[in-house]
Formats: sequence, structure tokens, C-alpha cells
Amino acid sequence: ASAFESITQAPPDPILGVSEAFKADTSSDKLNLGVGAYRTEDIKPYVLDVVKKAEKLMLENGENKEYLPIEGLADFNKATVALLLGSDNKAVKDGRVATIQSLSGTGSLRLGAAFLARFYPGRTVFLSNPTWGNHKNIFADAGVEWKEYRYFNPATIGLDFEGMMADIEAAPNGSVIVLHGCAHNPTGIDPTPEQWSKIADLIEKKNHLPFFDVAYQGFASGSLDEDAASVRLFVERGFELLVAQSYSKNLGLYAERIGALNAVLPTADLATKVKSQLKRLARALYSNPPVHGARIVAYVVGNNDIFDEWKQEMAGMAGRIQAVRATLVEELKKRDTKGRDWSFITSQIGMFSFTGLKPAQVENMTKKWHVYMTKDGRISLAGLNKARAGYLADAMIDSFD
Ligand code: PMP
Repeated sequence: ASAFESITQAPPDPILGVSEAFKADTSSDKLNLGVGAYRTEDIKPYVLDVVKKAEKLMLENGENKEYLPIEGLADFNKATVALLLGSDNKAVKDGRVATIQSLSGTGSLRLGAAFLARFYPGRTVFLSNPTWGNHKNIFADAGVEWKEYRYFNPATIGLDFEGMMADIEAAPNGSVIVLHGCAHNPTGIDPTPEQWSKIADLIEKKNHLPFFDVAYQGFASGSLDEDAASVRLFVERGFELLVAQSYSKNLGLYAERIGALNAVLPTADLATKVKSQLKRLARALYSNPPVHGARIVAYVVGNNDIFDEWKQEMAGMAGRIQAVRATLVEELKKRDTKGRDWSFITSQIGMFSFTGLKPAQVENMTKKWHVYMTKDGRISLAGLNKARAGYLADAMIDSFD
């Protein structure tokens, strides 16, 4: 008999499972709008030119494969916090930010969760409803209890700001509030600057700890600074907080697992102590992070010409997605005999659109039209192009009607 006799089959991941189902479909009409990975207008994966340049240089330099320190590549850590908070940020200058290179957004969140489990025990983490599905796994597996705050209003396909505020207010003082820095996943709906400022007031009043998840900096608006405005507002106001960063989307480094966890603290002394404890946690979890993506980021950010080129490429990716949103709305309007309002598709930002399709309608999208998407009605516009927008509009109208 096996020691694992009683194990049952785990369900497929709700997001990555969609890609598996897509692969198995033999229809030539099929369209994968499940996973959030950027595609070109030909619906092909995209390696950024600046990444190719960085890799060419690394090859020429004959970089070695020695272990990185536990906290990661020093040049990367310097670059990543500057990108997040601005190059002459006061908190960074004062040494109040502990930055650790970690395993992309997911690994950085997981390290942050482990840190909370050890040093802020008994607290509840509040996640937006809905949120990126993996948030729940990450905190649960770290042994941190999570609950939800209201975020989405199905009636307006917009932000339920009153509900969000009421739930953050009702949370026990000193809770952890997870916030998407920009391009909220899955809804594509972000608070306005005025709303962010009210959220900050309330979090301050309640003595909550903000934990920002920044997975789309530069990818939402096309501007690195604009997309970091929420986090910078909180840092300027003197909050203690955590931020997980990812370079999967904005540099297209999905498989390189490159990101960081930043802890902003009231004093440099505390930042040093926190960093030492984060290193201790990382050592036991994965020992030290991978070097390849770190070198790419350090090279791209640290080199003025290449940095500007990256910004252009990023604006190009964000622009393509904005253009495909506009085309989809046009195609929907052409076909819609009921005169519905589709403007939410162009007002939502980032890769995703939360369509409001119900599970049975999503099933119709997939079974009848071979359009693959998550069951919550989220589509990734990164997987669409202008040529296929009409087909998607046909499928959506048929499924909604
Ligand atoms: N947070 C959010 C909200 C995301 O959408 C993603 C990517 N899907 C991540 C974190 C982390 O992705 P990665 O681990 O590839 O950086």
C-alpha cells in the first residue's frame, strides 16, 4: 500500500487549466483568452527587443552561473525599488525600504505571506472580491487567514466603492489589506486618484497594513510612473507597507520568475532587521533567486537608451490592447440589436475585461465557439487581435442573448 493511498485528484487550476483545455481543442476557430500573457497582433508570444539586447550582451560578457546572495542581485534590487517608488524617493534614500529579489509576483507575495505569518500572527488578510485566484492559495498555504472586501458592482460593471470602504472599515483594526496597485485582476477596474486618497485615509484611521500587488506597472496606462501612483501616494503619506512586484508582464519575462518584495518601514534600523528576517525566510523556502531575469532588468533599467526603448515597447503593448478593446466594442455594437452599453470594455484597463458573462454563458463561449476564458467571465484582451474581434463579438452576443 502507498503512504499516499487516501490522496484524491486535485482540481485543475482555474486559470492555467484553461490553457490545457485550449491545447486539446482541434478547432481552427479556437481563441485563448484565458491566461494573461501578452500576444502580438498575430497572436504570437512576444520577446521584447530590449530583452534580446540584454541577453546578447550577457552572452558576449560570458556571465557566470554562480549563486546570487539570498537577497538577490544588488543592481536589480536598486533598480526595482527605484522603478517602483521613483529614482529619488525619500524613503529609499533614508534606507527605510527592505528589498528582496524574489520569484516573480507569486513568489514575492508568498514570501510576504510567510513574513506576515511569522511576524504579524493572528491577523486577517482582506482580499478584493473578486481577485486574482492565486491570492487565496498563497495566503492559505502560508497559514494566513483571508477574507474578502467588496470590490465589483455587477449592476454598473464598475467599482463598488461604498462596499469596499464599508468592508475595510468593518475589518478589525490592524488587518492586512491587499490592494492591486494598478490594472486590477480580474476586473480591469481601478479606483480613481480621489478614491485612492480616501482609501488611504481609511486604512490610516484603521491602522491597517497595506500589501500592494504590483504585477502590471507600465502595462496598464503605458506609463511606469502613472501606474505606480497608488503605491507612491501611500509611501509619501508615511505608511508602513509591503509591495510585491513582477516583471512577467511589463518585460515579458514570465518564465524567468523575476520580481521583488519591498517592505517600507518607519526607520532604517527596522528596515535592516526586516530584511535580515526576509532573507532567513527566503533561505528556507528557495535559498536564493534566479540570476537571468535579474540581469536583464538591471541592464534595461540601468542603461538610459535601453530604458527609453523599453518604455516605448511597453507603451506599444499597452496601446495594442487599448486598440483591440476599441475594435471589440465597434464589432459588438454592429451586432447588438438590443443597444447595450459596451463602454466598460474600453474603460477597463490592463490585459483583462470582466465581461459579466455568467458561468452558463461562458460554457457556451467555449463549447459552441471555442473561445477559452476563465469561468468568472474574464477575458484577456492580450490574446485577441483586430482580425478576430468580429468572431469574438459574434460569440459574445450569442452567449449573452
Ligand atoms: N498578481 C496578479 C494580480 C497577477 O495578475 C499576476 C499574474 N497573473 C501575479 C500577481 C503574478 O504573476 P507572476 O508570478 O508571473 O509574476
